[in-house]
Order: sequence, then C-alpha cells, then structure tokens
Amino acid sequence: MKTSFYDQTLPDWLVWADQEELPAYRARQIAAWASRGVSDVDELTDLPQSIRARLAEQFTFPSLELEEKYVSAIDETAKYVFRLSDGNRIESVLMHYRFGRSVCLSTQAGCRMGCTFCASADAGFGRNLTTGEMLAQVSLIARDCNARIGHVTLMGIGEPFENYDAVVAFLHRVNDPAGLNISMRHISISTCGLVPKMIEFTREGLPVTLSVSLHAPNDSIRQQLMPVAKRYRYDDLLAACRAHTQQTGRRITFEYALFDGINDRPEHARELAGRLRGMLCHVNLIPANEFSGGCYQRSQPSAVQQFQDVLVRSGINATVRRELGADIMAACGQLRRRKEACGIQ
Ligand code: SAH
Repeated sequence: MKTSFYDQTLPDWLVWADQEELPAYRARQIAAWASRGVSDVDELTDLPQSIRARLAEQFTFPSLELEEKYVSAIDETAKYVFRLSDGNRIESVLMHYRFGRSVCLSTQAGCRMGCTFCASADAGFGRNLTTGEMLAQVSLIARDCNARIGHVTLMGIGEPFENYDAVVAFLHRVNDPAGLNISMRHISISTCGLVPKMIEFTREGLPVTLSVSLHAPNDSIRQQLMPVAKRYRYDDLLAACRAHTQQTGRRITFEYALFDGINDRPEHARELAGRLRGMLCHVNLIPANEFSGGCYQRSQPSAVQQFQDVLVRSGINATVRRELGADIMAACGQLRRRKEACGIQ
C-alpha cells in the first residue's frame, strides 16, 4: 500500500531523497509543502516533473478529500467534512476569534466511548486517524481560508487518548517551526478521562492545555452520561488532574455540558464546587447541543446562569461557552452522524 504524503516527516523525506539519489534540499522542499496544504502532486511547483512523477507513484495525494463545506451565516464558523481514502468521514471546524483562527479537529473516525449525549458515539466507530490525517486537516483548512491557523483544539470526533501515539506525534509535528509552527501553548486536547493515559501524558511535559469532559458532580451522574466513568472513579480522575496541574503549572479546563434536570441543578453546582475547590482550574459550561434522536434537552438559560453563579460565588472560575456555528450543526459529530444515518456514501 502507498504511504500518505502527509504521514511522512522531514527525517522520512531525507531518507527518501537519499534513496532516490536526490539532494537533501529537495527533502526540505517536499516537507514544507505538507504544511502548506497540497491536494495534488502538481501543486509542488518548485519540483521538476521527474520528481513529481516519482512522488505520485509512491505516495497518495491527498490523504483526505474535502467533500463538503458549510459556512455559518451568523459568525463565519466553517465546518469541513473530509472523506478519507478508505471512505470514512471526519469533520473539522474553523472558528474565528479575536485572537486568531482556530481549527477543531478529529482524531478518530467515530468514537468508542459511548457518551450517551454525543452525536459521534451514536454514529459508530471507524478507525484511528494517522498523524498525517490530523495534520492534513489543519493544512488543508489553512490553505482553504488562505490564512495562518494560530490555534488547534483536539476536540472534534474521537477520543484523542485512545489514539495516543499518533496524537503525541501530531503535537510535535504541528509545532515544528519548519512546518505549521503552532505553539504548544495554543493547543488544547480534550479527553473524556482515560486516567492512565492522562498520567502518561502529564509525563510528556508538553505545555498544551488539557481539557477534561467532566459533565457531572459525582460518579453516579457521570456514569449515567459517560460509560468511561465506570472504568475510572471520579476521585481518581481528579487526582490525575491535580497531578497534571502540579507537574505542568498549567490550569486545567473542565468541560461541563448542562442537560435539563440531569446535572444542572444548584445542588449539583454546589457539589461540583466542593470537589474542585483549591484546584488550578476553569469550568467551561456548555449549553448542551441537542440532536434529533438524542435523549437529552439543553438546560434553560436561567439554569445555566444560576449554575455559573453558584460556582463563581464558591470561588470556582466558570464561564459559559459562546456558541459558534449553531446554524451549520458545527458541534462535534453532527454532520457525520446525519450522513451515516441516511446511508449517504
Ligand atoms: N473525546 C473527547 C473529545 C471529543 S468531544 C472528550 O470526550 O473530551 C468534544 C467535547 O464535546 C467533549 O467535551 C464532549 O463531552 C462534548 N460533547 C459531545 N456531545 C455533546 C453535546 N450533545 N452537547 C454538548 N457537548 C457535547
């Protein structure tokens, strides 16, 4: 099977150039193209036809194909649906903030975590993405919007820590000054709480922001929402979070989606505040995204406000996430799910 162009690193290209009896600067030229987002071998315009022909023969271009793009009429958030070479589909989202452009990318085609409120879980699991497929999401979007991407969040479809090695390799590659050069401090990685992998990740010592999808103030509510909570206890999860903040000195983010009547009552906020007291953390409250066939309703705006007030009064830093791309189903997994459900190929 041919290797994907995007899965090759600079050292791989140097080896390749050597085998092909090409000078090392050709390897550097080729590697630079991966971060510019090429979709066809003929776009490598600074290479002679003979080298392009050899590349086309030995590598796949592109590793993913832009299938559809939706742009929000409200806030210009853009959702990209990519088709992988084996037919699997993933989604990535481009968001515009005051501080620059941010891409939210997928780490797996589908997800195995089974969170009961999540559209991705509902659409089944395909496979892990390769490092190159993650990188290609960022480069192809940078090229499409013709602008630099300054921030990346690993919060699209999939559980990043289930695809640990490829994700860590991606963090290094996207950070490479010769490539996309995105600062680790501008990268966030979101996990549903795979405790052993969180501990391993803390040891990597990378200055990325860790987000943990908490969504509950205790084990019993969390288990109702997230099967992973049956594998790892709430206390052990928080211990892994504390170890991360202590080791890295970095504030941790807790994602807390609010579902009407399930986890959004003032007593839940008080219980949560008690558990998080003293931690270097920030709680991101998310009015839950509803999708057809899903079994939860989003909280009332007054309940969201009250929840936030209780946390803030207890000294816990908490903000309500601004919604982007509401008109294009920009939230994680929603489009992929719709397509799979309708049997669209
Ligand atoms: N697997 C990782 C990252 C992907 S999901 C994780 O669990 O963190 C990205 C975020 O979207 C997670 O916080 C997830 O819990 C949240 N999410 C999924 N479905 C949602 C919904 N219907 N409403 C609000 N947030 C949701």
